[in-house]
Amino acid sequence: MIQQANPGAGYLELKPEIDAAVARALSSGWYILGGEGRAFEAEFAAWLGTTHAIGCGNGTDALVLALRALGVGPGQSVVTVSHTAVATVAAIEMAGATPVLIDIDPVHYTMDPGELAEVLANPPSGLAPIGAIIAVHLYGQACDMPAISALAARYGIPVIEDCSQAHGATLGGRKLGTLTAISCFSLYPTKNLGALGDGGVVATSDAVLAEKVAALRQYGWKTHYISEFEGVNSRLDEIQAAILRVKLTHLDAHNARRQHIARQYDTALAGGLIRPPALRAGAEHVFHQYVVRVTGRAELQARLRAAGIATGIHYPVPVHLQPAYAGRVAMGPAACAETARAASEVMSLPMYPQLTDAQVEQVCEGLVACLSPAV
Ligand SMILES: *Cc1c(COP(=O)(O)O)cnc(C)c1O
Repeated sequence: MIQQANPGAGYLELKPEIDAAVARALSSGWYILGGEGRAFEAEFAAWLGTTHAIGCGNGTDALVLALRALGVGPGQSVVTVSHTAVATVAAIEMAGATPVLIDIDPVHYTMDPGELAEVLANPPSGLAPIGAIIAVHLYGQACDMPAISALAARYGIPVIEDCSQAHGATLGGRKLGTLTAISCFSLYPTKNLGALGDGGVVATSDAVLAEKVAALRQYGWKTHYISEFEGVNSRLDEIQAAILRVKLTHLDAHNARRQHIARQYDTALAGGLIRPPALRAGAEHVFHQYVVRVTGRAELQARLRAAGIATGIHYPVPVHLQPAYAGRVAMGPAACAETARAASEVMSLPMYPQLTDAQVEQVCEGLVACLSPAV
């Protein structure tokens, strides 16, 4: 069976380098916030093009830390999309703020700036003042940042980029995560840059925000044992940092391999019933996921599975329809109609850099066979 994602293959490819890095971290005698973490933060910031990167426990925490560093919390709301990992919305509530979920543009699956404009001009009645917007770059491709940033600037509202699926993607030649004052990355094992455990990063070129995030992630300490404000414990450990330093040196090549695989899938789908993912003009897509839209999804998934090809769904139940949020979470005027439609039709093909050419070929042949009319 060809897996849809395969973090184990990511480890095996780099096993000697990763094992050596882990041994180095273990032998150092220092396991939390030490030299490996500092080196990873400096190397990640240099790779991204920000002056600061602050490691933390996971991508959800990265969003919480960014919101809190911006002063967003109780008594404020935060606008984001329902078509995202639940983590984006969970982070808003962890920070004490109220999420407002708006719909997507059904072509790129990212925030609909038209609806953002409506919500900013006419906020849903009873809504707490909007303190931030979280722009999610989904599947490896930028959302419409020029439109979102222009609206945010008009209303004086900060934007946080959620780059958890877009490490290395660009828009207008600029890396995502550098387009706003502060951005967040998950380093979950299946992400384009993945730890072998949990991890996250907050990136910024604002020294004040960086200092705030660095203190918040460790009990509000600026100096040891003195909590200047109420912080949390959300640290990136030395073993994960050592592993991430190895993986960071391969990230650009891994993204290029994902793009190569995507082009093979595009070719296999050309002229058929399923359209390849739409590419946004001026954007470089790093294919965290290769997502197509199908009707009769369950049947197609079963046929592909029978051909030895696993597929995924990102995400089968949108946040506004999840038991934890349904009926109580605020939405924009579109009531996330396109989101619900997309959730019932999206399907993710196998996508990870270690897929062999033969496996990619098998997926392409499987697709063509499963999509041709049954005889
Ligand atoms: C993975 C992901 C997160 C959360 O990351 P964790 O490290 O699992 O907490 C947040 N936002 C998006 C868009 C994600 O894909």
